[in-house]
Amino acid sequence: MKANGSDAKAKKIVIVGGVAGGMSAAARARRISEESQIIIFERSGYVSYANCGLPYYLGGEIESQDDLIVVTPEALKNKLNLDIRTSSEVVKIDPVSKVVSVKELSTNKIYNESYDELILSVGAAAIRPRVPGIDLPGLFSLRNIEDVETIQSWVDSQHPRTVVIAGGGFIGLEMAEQFVRRGLDVTLVDGKDQVLAPIDPEMAQFVHKELRMHGVKLVLGQSIKGFLPPEGAGDEIPKSCWVLAGDHPPISADLVILGLGVRPEVALAREAGLTIGERGGIRVNEYLETSAAHIWAVGDTIEVRNPINDTWTLIALGGPANRQGRIVADNIFGAKKTYGGTLGTAILRVFDLTVACVGLNEGLLQASKIPYETVYLHPSHHASYYPGAARLDMKVLFHKESGVLLGAQVVGKEGADKRIDVLATAIKAGMTIRDLSELELAYAPPFGSAKDPINLAGMAGTNVLDGLVEQVQWHQIPALDSDKTCLVDVRTKGERDRGFIPGSVHIPLPELRQRLSEIPKGKDIVTYCQSGQRSYNASRLLRQSGFSVRNLSGGYLTWSTMQPANERMEVTPQPVQVLAK
Ligand SMILES: Cc1cc2nc3c(=O)[nH]c(=O)nc-3n(C[C@H](O)[C@H](O)[C@H](O)COP(=O)(O)OP(=O)(O)OC[C@H]3O[C@@H](n4cnc5c(N)ncnc54)[C@H](O)[C@@H]3O)c2cc1C
Repeated sequence: MKANGSDAKAKKIVIVGGVAGGMSAAARARRISEESQIIIFERSGYVSYANCGLPYYLGGEIESQDDLIVVTPEALKNKLNLDIRTSSEVVKIDPVSKVVSVKELSTNKIYNESYDELILSVGAAAIRPRVPGIDLPGLFSLRNIEDVETIQSWVDSQHPRTVVIAGGGFIGLEMAEQFVRRGLDVTLVDGKDQVLAPIDPEMAQFVHKELRMHGVKLVLGQSIKGFLPPEGAGDEIPKSCWVLAGDHPPISADLVILGLGVRPEVALAREAGLTIGERGGIRVNEYLETSAAHIWAVGDTIEVRNPINDTWTLIALGGPANRQGRIVADNIFGAKKTYGGTLGTAILRVFDLTVACVGLNEGLLQASKIPYETVYLHPSHHASYYPGAARLDMKVLFHKESGVLLGAQVVGKEGADKRIDVLATAIKAGMTIRDLSELELAYAPPFGSAKDPINLAGMAGTNVLDGLVEQVQWHQIPALDSDKTCLVDVRTKGERDRGFIPGSVHIPLPELRQRLSEIPKGKDIVTYCQSGQRSYNASRLLRQSGFSVRNLSGGYLTWSTMQPANERMEVTPQPVQVLAK
């Protein structure tokens, strides 16, 4: 294909699935080839709808359902000359004769349609666990506009007061927020001890705190076992059901949202003999072509390579689906564009908090046997002297030897979005933690700091790589041998009064030089402060005075998130001024 697509030979392109990946492919194909015939089959009644906006419509932030329709079939016909057939389910693919069988859902009529090139962008289906009571009324998942209409009509007719969200993933948390907004009593249940599996447990604690602060009851570490009708639990007030989760007492729910994750829609592909990978998605090559010639697949239905650990994975996100659709359209017309894999850059609003992540978390790095280092930071999102500074909680993971960036998690009320995008760009570019300290980022007091949190992460990580500091992580503290180790708290008296690590001695940093004699010579020293920065200075001082010293990364703030008393302990919401050296 030439750059302007002028030699594109007209083709008959059939696309299954008319939302993110499918519509992106269709629009790009039309821009390349005016003469091609492009048919889109969509099982639901709508195409090009904003599934990412569905929770916000249910909560009332998006006021009109029409706003969820990015563009109508009529407009698409006019603008792009696309042949869009809604309420039409592709029920069979014959890859040899290059024909699909289509069921018109309004008439149940089945007809065949031939293709030159077929694109599957069929998405993923919500997981409905095969547990007792799963088919009771009042249990819903959220994938498309029809689901929204069903939930809305249940809300209008049943006037629920209590809702249980099963699953603390992205959609579950968005729904929890939106139902609180509507005044419902919300309980969120998750089988793990934390919400949001892509982030590490200590970072998830900030999210738990935000959820609880807004009245969401968290039932963690309890898997959904089933659902009982009201009489089964002897309730006098009619409820839609009781939710049974692990050992927890039954939870009453007038409405249940199942947010237990998604599974690629592969039945059609499997039946057609296409290769399905071990993760359960359609297997494609670097050009996004399936194992059958002239059949391409994109979006939630495929397995993608994770470029960090070079393994197959499933990542259901809108950005990758859109970009893949565009690549496939180009490749259909002869380009040889490759898809470089998916990093899993994701972001979410949880009430006043933004939670964002990219790349691999610690659990995945360990499973992948990749040696890594971690730095935690708790800086202000902009100059701390400028009004409105809010704390960011950041975790950056990088390769232990090379310093190549491997993953990052950022939580905060302000500025988390731009930090994660810089980190995602840096990871995509193969940059190292050292490179972050050199990035020239825009600065004026209302927007950032002369040393942006990204630079600070780079400086802290470079200190680790250069051996200027040896770190202890929060989870290593309980294993320290108190006979051989002395924990030194270098914070102010006021900070210590609000809580400290048991067994630590208190020597505020400004007094440290004068009180060196109080530090036991034969012991390993672990310094800590609120965020890890002042104690880094202390560790440098002590090391140069002949001590064997390590510094607690992320300081008291990171350690305290994982303490059982954390729910009662007030972790100061004030940003911590960081003075990286
Ligand atoms: C509530 C919600 C919120 C989300 N929020 C975000 C977000 O904030 N950020 C983000 O990055 N991602 C988000 N996502 C995920 C994102 O929407 C998906 O990753 C993306 O839409 C996947 O695109 P796709 O083309 O693979 O599948 P989809 O966009 O799901 O489209 C698949 C379509 O194929 C149709 N179909 C399936 N089988 C057939 C068949 N046999 N015949 C005809 N049609 C068929 C389906 O009806 C469906 O409409 C959200 C998803 C949901 C449900």
